[in-house]
Amino acid sequence: MGQQLPSAVNASELDRSQHLALAIDIGGSKAEIAVIDAHGTARTLAVKQPVPFGQDGRADPARLIELFAPHVVEAQRLPGQLDGIGLSICGNIDPDTGEAVLVPNLHWRYLPFGPMVAARFGLSVYAATDVRMAALAEAIWGVARGVRYFAWCTIGTGYGGYLFLDGKLYGGTHGFAGNFGHNTIDEVDGYPCGCGRRGCLETYVAGPAIARAGQAALDAGRSPELSQICTDGRVVTHMVFQAATAGDPACRAIIDEVVRRVAIGLGGVVNTLDLDMIVVGGGVAHGDPELVPRINRKIRDYLMTVEAARDLRVVMESLPNSALYGAAADVFIRSGVLELETG
Ligand SMILES: [Zn+2]
Repeated sequence: MGQQLPSAVNASELDRSQHLALAIDIGGSKAEIAVIDAHGTARTLAVKQPVPFGQDGRADPARLIELFAPHVVEAQRLPGQLDGIGLSICGNIDPDTGEAVLVPNLHWRYLPFGPMVAARFGLSVYAATDVRMAALAEAIWGVARGVRYFAWCTIGTGYGGYLFLDGKLYGGTHGFAGNFGHNTIDEVDGYPCGCGRRGCLETYVAGPAIARAGQAALDAGRSPELSQICTDGRVVTHMVFQAATAGDPACRAIIDEVVRRVAIGLGGVVNTLDLDMIVVGGGVAHGDPELVPRINRKIRDYLMTVEAARDLRVVMESLPNSALYGAAADVFIRSGVLELETG
């Protein structure tokens, strides 16, 4: 194990409940919104709203921002001090400027979304990519508290993560470190990837890949369970898990292959970086409670050292939505209310 770190704060215990952030996690189809205090306690019920899209297929930033307005009013009515708005966004975000550099799911490119939100509400706004926010929340309030070296990993519609190294978030030269879902597996025969290339690991393990493999099994008449579950002939990811749980051999093989490929991929990350922990979240990970424990066992086949095999833990995210909580943590850290100590 690495050294344990104290999770220190600037504000006293008494002060922390007085500090509030409006946390917003914007995914490809829904935005989740809650007021969270500096203890990491939600002070309002988290609300999910559909992201409004325009005729052109782009997420409409002005209409999206108006969805936040009643929550800003609610946050300002609560006792305490609203330190700002934290925005967790499912794409590449410049954390210094709040600009959405590239958000494929929302069809945003070079959109100054953070400054737009700040101008609308007259509050400090702190924006960053969702995986960075999730890693931050787990480091300050979650299962990775006190862990010096870990990775966050999302298995959902996409596959990727963020790194926390030597007690700090690690973004690399451009802030895009942790994109291990786009490591190439097969550039010749692989599937096209959302990043514009071919054969990335994501195209083998994320939700759409699981649905695609299930669809192929159904269409080939190899999955009796899917032919029962799937009444309209269109397989979605959760059906494959459901069929696998019911013992369908073809669907079990699909999930086995996801576990194997994720274990190989994350095993390579651990061999490179010698991590203590990998924290896993995302819709696919939540879809099957056995998935993460299976990855935790399987990864040991691909670790180089006995020390890593002994000490590494692959665990499920420990907060209801780590990215949402991270959006709040980011407000408190960047406004000086909380501090991550590097030991
Ligand atoms: Zn890719």
